[in-house]
Amino acid sequence: MPARRFIVTVVADRCKECGICIALCPKNVLEKGNKLNWKGFHYTVPARPEQCIGCRLCEYNCPDFAIFVVEAEAAKGETVWARQA
Ligand code: SF4
Ligand code: SF4
Repeated sequence: MPARRFIVTVVADRCKECGICIALCPKNVLEKGNKLNWKGFHYTVPARPEQCIGCRLCEYNCPDFAIFVVEAEAAKGETVWARQA
């Protein structure tokens, strides 16, 4: 049976760079990105989505509803909704 895979999506313009998701992720999937969002924050990026185990600690604890995790056929990381600061 193949390993379960997950899509980790960050809604960039909702992120306020608090770092809660990065600190809580047990698999080091997330990290602070290099780019700024519309609000001037370095938004989180799903740098290592292949390591995600789908625990959804990031999703449940993000105060701004900026991360969503769903199961997928293949691991995929993406960032959406990023206007230029
Ligand atoms: S918990 Fe939410 S707001 Fe905080 S850094 Fe992560 S995605 Fe951004
Ligand atoms: S679902 Fe769990 S393992 Fe996956 S990115 Fe979020 S905290 Fe990390």
